[in-house]
Amino acid sequence: MIHPDKKTNLQESVMKIFKGTIITCDKNDNIVRYLVEDKGKIVFTGNELPESYQKQDIVDIGTKAIIPAFTDSHIHFTSFALFSSTLDVRKAENFKDLANIINQYTNKTGAKIVLGFGISAHSVEEQQMITRKQLDMIEAAKPVMLIKYDGHASVVNSAMLKLLPAKFRKLRGFNEDSGQLFQEAFFAAADYISSKVSLVSLVKYMLKAVDKMADKGIGLIHPAEGVGFPLDLDVDLVRFISGGLANPFKFRIFFQTMDIKKVIKRKLPRVGGCFATALDGCFGSLDAALYSPYETDPSNKGILFYSDDQVFDFVQKAHDKGLQVQMHAIGDAAFDQAANAIEAALRNNFRKDHRHSIIHASLTTQKGLEICAEYNIGIACQPGLLHLNLEPVSYLNSILGARAYEISPLKTMLDMGIHVSGGSDAPVTMPDPVSGIYSACNHFNDSQSISIMQAIKMFTYETAWAGFDDEKTGSLEQGKDADMVILNKNPLEMDRNELLSLETKELFLKGRPYKKDQKFSSLLWNCLFNRHK
Ligand SMILES: [Zn+2]
Repeated sequence: MIHPDKKTNLQESVMKIFKGTIITCDKNDNIVRYLVEDKGKIVFTGNELPESYQKQDIVDIGTKAIIPAFTDSHIHFTSFALFSSTLDVRKAENFKDLANIINQYTNKTGAKIVLGFGISAHSVEEQQMITRKQLDMIEAAKPVMLIKYDGHASVVNSAMLKLLPAKFRKLRGFNEDSGQLFQEAFFAAADYISSKVSLVSLVKYMLKAVDKMADKGIGLIHPAEGVGFPLDLDVDLVRFISGGLANPFKFRIFFQTMDIKKVIKRKLPRVGGCFATALDGCFGSLDAALYSPYETDPSNKGILFYSDDQVFDFVQKAHDKGLQVQMHAIGDAAFDQAANAIEAALRNNFRKDHRHSIIHASLTTQKGLEICAEYNIGIACQPGLLHLNLEPVSYLNSILGARAYEISPLKTMLDMGIHVSGGSDAPVTMPDPVSGIYSACNHFNDSQSISIMQAIKMFTYETAWAGFDDEKTGSLEQGKDADMVILNKNPLEMDRNELLSLETKELFLKGRPYKKDQKFSSLLWNCLFNRHK
């Protein structure tokens, strides 16, 4: 019996020749006229088409441009899949809007529990987080939980309070009156509600989430998984999904745990992310770890979640086992802790090509950046955060003062020769490389804006490098997978202010046009009989 996907494979394995602006993103930033793809691989790029290909049909892309398929170097895939398929409230401009969005959702879906994502005190006219009582006025009967944009807090209504196990009331961060849940209470409640989603629904949401990323031209992601599902179910589910996709979409999973044994048991080569491997909090919750206090509270320098010894021990053990390590660090004190720990591990046991990296690196230090440059430590950056209305620069300025303008010094990092890859931290920002490229080229501190070519490479080649995939993908070079997108225009000829009008017209992975709407049954089939990746 031949699986339906197999038949289409055969039909599509005809050599393709593309003519036009082909931005290779190779070492020398070459732009060429021709690209030839055969059986999923790039077999030729150059300005003169060799005679042997001249009898073939040529696809002339006209004023469009071809670049490598986009990537996302840091995404919480399970959360993104869950929240983007349930309720997204980020567009609400005030509480009335929010009420409409929630009511429309409950009417349309008949959902018994409402799980929403994306509230912020900064993006609504009221300039405050909604409270339990206000939420009760919107929806009293069905349990509602709205998660804050930074994934570190939530607000629940009275019906949800009733549903949550009574023991949660004793957890740190539980505010019965306001209905706002922080810290331990938030994570316990979010896990409890996530576990109410059936596995089949979750898998279907994940398939849809891959389609959404493909719409944006993405073909390779670094999902950070392990948010506390029982038995780390989300990690295994993402492994399962990635092995059964009909499209050759590349997943490189980072397991968010300090327990290296769990990673090795699953034969995963990568450890780290946020959650358990976050060294500090975030600006939204005023717990990113700083050397000097927040402007709003002279007694608060944020929190380092682990001692130096704990972080050094974790990195050393993971490094010695040959794993690749990533850690979330937002404040300057956390950034240095991460850089120092990786440096120490490398000094004790040098490995040239480790590709360890630091996620976010929002506030940096000169010394920490020098360590990154010297030891070739990568930085997984999310430029989309620079233009996030849920956490505007005016807010960052109010809590950090002049330091706000030092956030994500992209140009400094690149000038120092540091590998900086681009991602979304979805669901915090959407996985949308075009908006990431726009933000990187239009930094709110303009002296840190980077060139369009540099920004494109952050969202293509650099993620491939960061996951040891640069021999296979990330640039358009002979011998690599034909993972590429056709853009509606040539980004290198655009004004940087216009970059948001860039669109993905078509995504090719291993030479095949991306096909949406994979059926659950086809996923199962691939997982059971055809574990090809
Ligand atoms: Zn993250």
